[in-house]
Amino acid sequence: MTNFPNLIDGEWTMGTQSVPNVNPSDTNDVIGQAASATTEEVEQAIDAAAAAQVGWSKSTPQQRFDILDAIGTEILARKEELGDLLAREEGKTLPEGIGEVARAGQIFKFFAGEALRIPGERLESVRPGVEVDIRREALGVIGIITPWNFPIAIPAWKSAPALCYGNAVVMKAAEAVPGSAWALADIIHRSGLPKGVFNLVNGKGSKIGPVMIDHPKVAGISFTGSVQTGQQVAQGCAKNLKKVQLEMGGKNPMVVLDDADLDIAVGACVNGAFFSTGQRCTASSRLIVTEGIYDAFVAAMSKTVSALTVGDARKAGTQIGPVIDQRQLEKDLEYVQIAQQEGATLVCGGEKIEGSGHFMSPALFVDTANHMRINQEEVFGPVATIIKAKDYEEALKLANDTEFGLSAGICTTSLKYATDFKANAKAGMVMVNLPTAGVDYHVPFGGTKGSSYGSREQGRYAAEFYSTVKTSYMQA
Ligand code: ADP
Repeated sequence: MTNFPNLIDGEWTMGTQSVPNVNPSDTNDVIGQAASATTEEVEQAIDAAAAAQVGWSKSTPQQRFDILDAIGTEILARKEELGDLLAREEGKTLPEGIGEVARAGQIFKFFAGEALRIPGERLESVRPGVEVDIRREALGVIGIITPWNFPIAIPAWKSAPALCYGNAVVMKAAEAVPGSAWALADIIHRSGLPKGVFNLVNGKGSKIGPVMIDHPKVAGISFTGSVQTGQQVAQGCAKNLKKVQLEMGGKNPMVVLDDADLDIAVGACVNGAFFSTGQRCTASSRLIVTEGIYDAFVAAMSKTVSALTVGDARKAGTQIGPVIDQRQLEKDLEYVQIAQQEGATLVCGGEKIEGSGHFMSPALFVDTANHMRINQEEVFGPVATIIKAKDYEEALKLANDTEFGLSAGICTTSLKYATDFKANAKAGMVMVNLPTAGVDYHVPFGGTKGSSYGSREQGRYAAEFYSTVKTSYMQA
């Protein structure tokens, strides 16, 4: 059994409170004990970050490059071991866990490079003899609040740009996945980063979040999680006039047109809807299929989905791991019932699988209409629906008929429809012949409408949130 302590001002501390970290594939397997920070500990972390940020903001691009690059190198070198810890505590399959860890390493490498390319601008003034320059500066202390579904990639894609642009960090990871956050903090701690620049405080979001949001020394909050919590975070930040960035839910459509390659479409839909147990904000939860291919698609999907192997996340051959916890499993099963009460037909799955973990068989519905709750509310589990559409125009309308706008996909061999969909899908990310989930690490990530708020994450665009611009005038 391992302890997963907080990291405050360069010191590891278990504090006075802790909670068990349990394996969702086998609830008898207690991975470790995670510290649960008190209000005072969160305040100490913020004070430490504010004090350390002053020096870190003056570090050179080379110093930042060296540290971020070293963090990325160690993460990549340990991807199998860290991927196993991730799969053990979160429940995604081992290959998915290792892939996520690799992505975290690549993100640090990317922002190591970005530290050498922090841009500025010099313009001629409208006044004679005056020079103007515009530079990017750090914000200060960034509060980072992360969810459980990407336990290392999301902490990485928030903390790497925060550090790259000269900020200090106080990070609060999700309660269910303290191990991956601790492993990342440990690597960052040993990277040569000055003490206090990166702090980790674990514990209950409803307790720690408000302390970070209300603290005058925190300049901005980057949050990924549910819509409901995101709204609370945004309201708190607005009250305190604090910069905020939110990534929230999705109800991502995947349109399958008559001219699609059936194998590609089924592959993209199975991956997008069910891999990572459907626990991705980019999951393809609404499959919108035109009439000509509908019967063949439903038959092929139902055959493939019912053959998926559900089991222990770390066991070879498992394709779908467990749901994160009992509460989420109950929610998923409740949505299976809601869909049936609304008139949807269950083609396969949707049942709890008895055993030592939180397992359910992936559920696929047909005979669904877009206005049903099952097509409007995010389930965040292995549950997908099929909606029949007359033609491309109707499919596009249905795809956009949602309060979310994170990712949208289309399977087609038509350049005309692919081009039109890229232009008219109301989403921050559009995929053609690819699952709605699964993105690159060097380009922006984020959505429109109710999915995201504030500027984009990742890639060069991360600079918008993690830095601010200063305009300087000088009379020569
Ligand atoms: P999920 O349902 O996926 O767990 P949440 O939005 O509840 O999504 O959680 C996402 C993150 O937000 C977690 O780290 C959680 O602890 C944190 N959190 C929960 N409540 C609050 C809150 N009131 N303020 C700030 N953060 C919170």
